[in-house]
Amino acid sequence: MRLASFIADQCLAYLLSSDSDPQRQPRSGRRTPLHPPWSSAAASFLALCNGCGDCAKACGSGIIRINEDGFPVVDFSQNACTFCGDCARSCPTGALQFNQEQEPWHVRARIEASCLLGSRVLCRSCGDRCEHGAIRFPLAEGQLPTIAAEQCTGCGACASVCPVNAISFAATSSKLNQPESP
Ligand code: SF4
Ligand code: SF4
Ligand code: SF4
Repeated sequence: MRLASFIADQCLAYLLSSDSDPQRQPRSGRRTPLHPPWSSAAASFLALCNGCGDCAKACGSGIIRINEDGFPVVDFSQNACTFCGDCARSCPTGALQFNQEQEPWHVRARIEASCLLGSRVLCRSCGDRCEHGAIRFPLAEGQLPTIAAEQCTGCGACASVCPVNAISFAATSSKLNQPESP
């Protein structure tokens, strides 16, 4: 009986933890893909998107690809998002809904333990690339940079230049990167 209760508690803790958030990328291992900006909340996005790829074709930055599940995901490995909105405007199903009044998404960068500074290798590439001054570098050797969440837009510019892929992205809201339901 006590074992069953323990297991139930562990399951509940997992479900309540941010790592169970479908838009959050884990600190290591496989990273959960991000849907494009102005996407509806995960459940409705998956219900509405038909995988047509129009958003990917519309993206002048070339950062949207269709993943193995047939859904569009953002890939910051080569480029950043300009938040131009072309992807959302091109969506014929409403899975993406452009709204200039609405924040494109609630996604912020975060620095992983694999950052070179943790190994005392000098690097400031991400900070040099961030137009928003959102990356703070520690004075002490061996410590990792931090992200000022209020300044980070989740544009991905930092990730596109990190030589060791040490920057991931996580949703800061349970509404994910999503318009509110009407
Ligand atoms: S907002 Fe613009 S740059 Fe960003 S993913 Fe959409 S089309 Fe690409
Ligand atoms: S995602 Fe964009 S705004 Fe945020 S830290 Fe990286 S470069 Fe700066
Ligand atoms: S670019 Fe990557 S390795 Fe360099 S400081 Fe930033 S997170 Fe660390």
